[in-house]
Amino acid sequence: MKKASAIITNNGGMTCHAAIVSREMQIPCIVGTKSKGKAAMDYIKTGDVVTVDAKNGVVYKGNVESIVKPIKQATAADGAVVAAEQFAPTGTKVLMNLGDPELADKYASLPADGIGLMREEFLWTTYIHEHPLYLIETGHPEKVVNELADGISTVCRAMSPRPVVLRFSDFKSSEYRNLKGGDKYEPHEPSDLLGWRGASRYYDPKYIEAFKLELKAVKKVRNEFGLKNLNVMIPFVRRVSEAQRITDIMHEEGLYRSDDFKVLMMSEIPSNIICADKFNQFVDGYSIGSNDLAMLILGCDRNNETVASLFDERDLAVKRAIRHLIKAAHKDGKTVSICGQAPSTHPEFAQFLIQSGINAISVNPDMVKQTKRNVAHFEQRILLDKATGRGIKDTEDYSW
Ligand code: PEP
Ligand code: MG
Repeated sequence: MKKASAIITNNGGMTCHAAIVSREMQIPCIVGTKSKGKAAMDYIKTGDVVTVDAKNGVVYKGNVESIVKPIKQATAADGAVVAAEQFAPTGTKVLMNLGDPELADKYASLPADGIGLMREEFLWTTYIHEHPLYLIETGHPEKVVNELADGISTVCRAMSPRPVVLRFSDFKSSEYRNLKGGDKYEPHEPSDLLGWRGASRYYDPKYIEAFKLELKAVKKVRNEFGLKNLNVMIPFVRRVSEAQRITDIMHEEGLYRSDDFKVLMMSEIPSNIICADKFNQFVDGYSIGSNDLAMLILGCDRNNETVASLFDERDLAVKRAIRHLIKAAHKDGKTVSICGQAPSTHPEFAQFLIQSGINAISVNPDMVKQTKRNVAHFEQRILLDKATGRGIKDTEDYSW
């Protein structure tokens, strides 16, 4: 991806990882162009020159200079008055999603309160390239530990002392199969978004040794490199008993929750919300994975462009679920943040989240500044409306 000037795909939805990573890398990207039996690659052939306006979802024939050329901002040297950017403090934390450690230094100066989601998968595809079970079988498990620890520590150092939340691996089997040696270890699953992913791998006898390497990397970063701002998050936990099993494995490996080591869980499956009161005992808090949550509440495959128009995290059903989670989590003193694409794609969604009492909002780097401003604005608005009894009333009924 790093070689590409722009990316256009036939398949995929707005929350597929190609779209998310290219956004982080600031590569223009349009996914899921299939429509009425035709798609972009029916029109574009090897050797064609096209210009991609990803903001508006348009592909032009040829080189359209006015789109490609960056708009020159006036600087002090041009005689422009340049004021330092100011960001008001906000009660709701604004965090940043970051996958590629090489971008950590570049984005560390943004006004983010920490990293709300560091997807471990990007470390595998950027640095490791090989399947963990293949590396174990061929006698090189240390490669996993060292490469993961290097990538994680790069981000922790750049962000220190602000907290970083590393999410343990959440590859699907088709993605694991693409790693070197992966074919031997991965099942062929018809719908791998609903298959062997997240927590269900970690305690599985077929995978547990690979998960332990991830835990060793975390210990290395915290104990050997002394980077105590590293915290972890467990993705795709379907059942309460799975949370118990993962907790047990972490304890066996010497990783316990404490004041300076938080264990979070992705809240991205309806069961996580319906049974939040039961999951609470295992975690310090949750981060809402609105990409998977919207998919699973609406029954709408997030990577399937045919149903893309039905995929909307702002649907009342998703909002009700979010409200319910925040209430159930806060009851036991657990924090709730969000790290799915919803507040990056729909900035106004932050208002609903703040009104619901969310503790933190994690967005793509390109949305950090705008979200910081929006959050300050929404918080002030809510206070004013409360104080004066005026303001626009929310007409949606979130009761459940
Ligand atoms: C989510 O599901 O919203 C999320 C943040 O995780 P991912 O997109 O990696 O599934
Ligand atoms: Mg998810």
